[in-house]
Amino acid sequence: MYTIKLRDTLEPIPVGKIVCLGRNYSEHIKELGNEIPDKPVIFIKPSTSIIPDASTVIIPDYSDDCHYEVELALLIGQTGKNISRDNAMQHIAGYGVAIDLTLRDVQTRQKEKGLPWEIAKGFDTSCPLSDFVPAADVTDPHQLQLTLKVNGELRQDGNTALMMRQIPQIIEEFSAIFTLEAGDIILTGTPSGVGRVQSGDIMTAEIKQVGHLAVSVA
Ligand code: MG
Repeated sequence: MYTIKLRDTLEPIPVGKIVCLGRNYSEHIKELGNEIPDKPVIFIKPSTSIIPDASTVIIPDYSDDCHYEVELALLIGQTGKNISRDNAMQHIAGYGVAIDLTLRDVQTRQKEKGLPWEIAKGFDTSCPLSDFVPAADVTDPHQLQLTLKVNGELRQDGNTALMMRQIPQIIEEFSAIFTLEAGDIILTGTPSGVGRVQSGDIMTAEIKQVGHLAVSVA
């Protein structure tokens, strides 16, 4: 069973599903040449994709182009279905830092063929995750600076203020499709600056007030 830690909570929390939003920052949509979606672009990573801080990413041998995407992660603390945006924030137990690792070459082929993305997004080690901080400790989740460095060099530098769908809307839309259970995690999309990593690289992701995460590539 895959678990995460919420600061000030003694027991590790078992993770359910990881529901992810794609194309939520306009500059990132432009850099990949995608269209701005009117409906949310949603996919799921299995809990088996999680690795903790200070661990190692293993790029599958069917890809030659693994990209990092730093994202704000939400930990659901209260189960709900059809959650309204007015009630959405009370379902969040905490915030964390995630890297949504993506096999861009594989994803591009899948997109071209109209096939699902799981083999590009859900492989083992594709979801490095930090520990979570309690939601009450974050002043405003829509004013958080996100950065990602590769081998110490800044590659992504965005702010959650630039999200096109804000958190209450994401929870409303996701929970109309999936019951969100305590222990589920939501990834909220990545700002621009995504790029490739290769064997020997070290990725360091940080969100002010939330935490940081460093993983290496095998
Ligand atoms: Mg992403």
